[in-house]
Amino acid sequence: MSALKPGSTIGIIGGGQLGRMMAVAAAQLGYRCHIYAPEPVSVAAEVAGAFTQAAYDDVAALERFAAEVDVVTYEFENVAVEPLRALTDKVAVHPSLDALAIAQDRLREKAFVAELGGRTAPWAGVNSLEELEAALTRIGCPAILKTTRFGYDGKGQARIHTPKDAAEAWDTIGRQPAILEGFVRFEREFSVIVARGADGRTVGWDVPDNQHVNGILAHCVVPAGGIVDEQATEARALAETVAEKLGYVGVLTLEFFASADGPVFNEMAPRVHNSGHWTIEGAVTSQFENHIRAVCGLPMGDSRLAARRVTMDNLIGDAADNWDVILADPTAHLHLYGKGAARPGRKMGHVTRLEF
Ligand code: AMP
Repeated sequence: MSALKPGSTIGIIGGGQLGRMMAVAAAQLGYRCHIYAPEPVSVAAEVAGAFTQAAYDDVAALERFAAEVDVVTYEFENVAVEPLRALTDKVAVHPSLDALAIAQDRLREKAFVAELGGRTAPWAGVNSLEELEAALTRIGCPAILKTTRFGYDGKGQARIHTPKDAAEAWDTIGRQPAILEGFVRFEREFSVIVARGADGRTVGWDVPDNQHVNGILAHCVVPAGGIVDEQATEARALAETVAEKLGYVGVLTLEFFASADGPVFNEMAPRVHNSGHWTIEGAVTSQFENHIRAVCGLPMGDSRLAARRVTMDNLIGDAADNWDVILADPTAHLHLYGKGAARPGRKMGHVTRLEF
C-alpha cells in the first residue's frame, strides 16, 4: 500500500468520542475526516470536515461515502458487516472487514484466539434455554452469559450463580444467541493495545491496569506493576500473533484477566480503545495517531511511555460537571467529548495525569 498523502480524506464509520479523537489526530497530520453515522448529532462530526448522516446498512449512502473518501476506518464495531462490503470495491477499509466480523462475535473471537494458543475461560455457544442448561452442567457455576454480538460495557450480560438462575439469565439477555463463559478468578484486568502498520511493523504500548465500576472502565494505571507486568509479555505476544494472522492494519485491543494460571483472553476490539486514552499525553505517540498513521500507510510512531507513571480516569455521567475543579489541577489533562446530556453511565470525557 502506498502512503496516502496529507490532504487526503479519511472516512470514519461511527460518530462518537473515539472518532472525535481520531479526527483530531488526523487533523494534526494534515488529513481531512468525513464521519459516517446515523445519529443527527455526532461529537466526531463536530471536529471533522464532512458528515454523512445515514444508517449503517444504507448501501447507497455507503457507496456515495466511499466515492468521497480515500480510505475508510471505523471507531464503532457494532455494525453489520455485509452492507459495509459495498465500500471495499471502491476504497480500502482498515482494519479489514474480516477482522471486524471476528471481533464482533464473541464465539468467533474466542475460537480464533484459542486456535492461536491463547488461554480463554471455558465457553460454549447457546441458542436456547435447554442448551444453556446443558452447557451449565459442563462448565459449572458461577458463569456468565453474554450475547454473542452487540454487547458492550457489561451490557447484554447476566451472571449465573446457581443452575436455578438459568431461566432468568436467559430472559435478561433477551433470549438471543449467546456464549456461556466459566467465571475466571482473576486478580486484575488489563489490556494490550498494538498498532500494526501496512508494512507489518507492529508497536505496542505499555499495558494498563484497568479498573471497572458497574462493568464500565473507570480508571487505568500505567505501568500496571505486579502480576499484570509479569503477564504482559505473553499477552502482547498473543496480540501480535492475532494482528499478524489477520494481516491487520490499525490499532487492535485485546482485553485480559490476570489469573493465577496466566493471562486469560476476554475479548478483542478492532479499534482504538478507552484503555488507551492515556496514550494521548502519556506516550510518545498516541493510539489515535498511530491508528491514523497505519490506515494511511505511514510508519508507526514511537509508542514508549512519556512519563514515569500515567493515570486515566473516565468522567462518567455527571462527573464531567467537575471540569472546573479538574482544571484547577495544573497536571490534569482534561478531555471533554462535547456530548449534551450527562446520562448515568455515559462516557462524557476523561482526565489523564502524568507523574515524572
Ligand atoms: P466484557 O463485556 O466481556 O468485557 O465483560 C465486562 C466485565 O465483566 C469484565 O470487564 C469483567 O470484569 C467481567 N467478566 C466478563 N467475563 C468474565 C468471566 N468469564 N469471568 C469473570 N469476570 C468476567
